Amino acid sequence: MVIFFGQPGSGKSTQGKLLAANKDWCWISAGQLLRDSDDPSIDAILNSGKLVPFETICGLVGDALSKCNNVAHVVIDGFARNIGQSRWLIENGIKYNRAVELIVVIEIDEKTIIERLSSRGRKDDTEQAIRNRLDIYKEETYPVLDYFRKEGIKIVYIDGSGTPEQVHVQIMKEVELCKLA
Ligand code: AMP
Repeated sequence: MVIFFGQPGSGKSTQGKLLAANKDWCWISAGQLLRDSDDPSIDAILNSGKLVPFETICGLVGDALSKCNNVAHVVIDGFARNIGQSRWLIENGIKYNRAVELIVVIEIDEKTIIERLSSRGRKDDTEQAIRNRLDIYKEETYPVLDYFRKEGIKIVYIDGSGTPEQVHVQIMKEVELCKLA
């Protein structure tokens, strides 16, 4: 599994999709699974910018992983977002014959984040929801990197400020260096 990390608006979905398409791998987006779930109680949480409950998101990600059985690698976007989910991913990955192989962190400054989010027009891109998502990223999601580092997982940091193609080229270089089978 290659896990994409980054603040909202960092381009992690765009980049995760490009990598998966380029390599013919599976792409799993936690946010997209939730948006597709069509459940009003989930929608309300998405609109607040807060995290949905552990069981909800782990159930959806587990189902998605089980559908990727025949694919060499899986790109995961937006999961794990806290320590509990990280532990779940490592422990349950084994069940699906998957290990966390690489973490890609896309870095971007806050001014660019606000500009990108206010122009993309998603319905959870309100000022309050954006603030909540940025706070959760700093408080809950950032510490996840330490957790994975202690587990011995390779983490690469990518400058997300270029064009999608420029960022993709940097990511491809790192993935090739990792020699994922
Ligand atoms: P994203 O598509 O990554 O911007 O995520 C959109 C929203 O989905 C987030 O603001 C959260 O409300 C929810 N979400 C995404 N991933 C997770 C996760 N791993 N755990 C809980 N909630 C999540």
